[in-house]
Amino acid sequence: MSKIKKCAVCSKSIDNRRPQTKTCSNSCRTRLWRFSNAGPVSLKVVLSKLQYIQLKTEANDLDMMINALVVAKATQSAACSIYS
Ligand SMILES: [Zn+2]
Repeated sequence: MSKIKKCAVCSKSIDNRRPQTKTCSNSCRTRLWRFSNAGPVSLKVVLSKLQYIQLKTEANDLDMMINALVVAKATQSAACSIYS
């Protein structure tokens, strides 16, 4: 029952590490620590009207803010290609 664990920063596999390990290396650990102490980052995203309407509709269906839906999609790499 091995669930593949990935580095929280670079997504490299970190299987066979201690259960509490979140990153693959010291440099990723440092980056994660820096990011977790920083405020949120604002990102401007440019979409076609069709992409926007699809996202807006999906967000409405899920009763989510469009912002939250975009963040959820962007942080799940498998879902990123849906609207490309
Ligand atoms: Zn890493």
